[in-house]
Amino acid sequence: MKIVLASANPAKAKELESILRSLFEDTLTILTATDLLGADWHVEEPGHTLEENAYLKAVAVAERTLLPTIADDTGLEVEALGGLPGVRTARFAGDDASWEANNALLLERLTHASDRRARFRTVLCYRDCLRTIFAEGICTGTIAPEPRGSGGFGYDPLFIPDGYDRTFAEMKPEEKHALSHRRRALEQLAERLRTLWS
Ligand code: IMP
Repeated sequence: MKIVLASANPAKAKELESILRSLFEDTLTILTATDLLGADWHVEEPGHTLEENAYLKAVAVAERTLLPTIADDTGLEVEALGGLPGVRTARFAGDDASWEANNALLLERLTHASDRRARFRTVLCYRDCLRTIFAEGICTGTIAPEPRGSGGFGYDPLFIPDGYDRTFAEMKPEEKHALSHRRRALEQLAERLRTLWS
């Protein structure tokens, strides 16, 4: 069974691949949209929800590759900011903002906040020629007072999952993958796909 990951973010694609391998062992051939379409492929993400953007990416890549495709759209939802940055997580500090700029803006916005609770929410959309399946995974935690650690990507140096005192960026990849929003969403999707493929 071949499956395409519709992510242009190599760090995210690597996480998806590693988690999928642990869930399906060697029964899947995992390809990325970049492998098949080249480094320049791009899908606009004009949606107002993670669900819309995941759907747009999955449909566009499945149509171009003619292969079953999984797209991931993830948002960081911060309690004190009313759920922001949410769907604008990648562009919080502006279009093409770096991870460092996004993290800096988040810390600035939380300077006077006593409530630092937040959650990562991943929405996956699986698309093949017959069906569209959505799955969701949530990981709750808090925003650290300053960045810590060098692993992972994006907001990982600021996110401390509940039950831990280290940020995702201070954890080994396997540790993050065992409890992350992405893992939870992929587990839900894997259950649906196993039923479908059995
Ligand atoms: P998108 O789903 O590609 O739109 O990603 C949105 C943004 O969320 C990315 O640019 C990252 O900064 C951030 N992000 C997504 N997943 C994670 C994660 O697992 N850890 C930290 N940041 C993440």
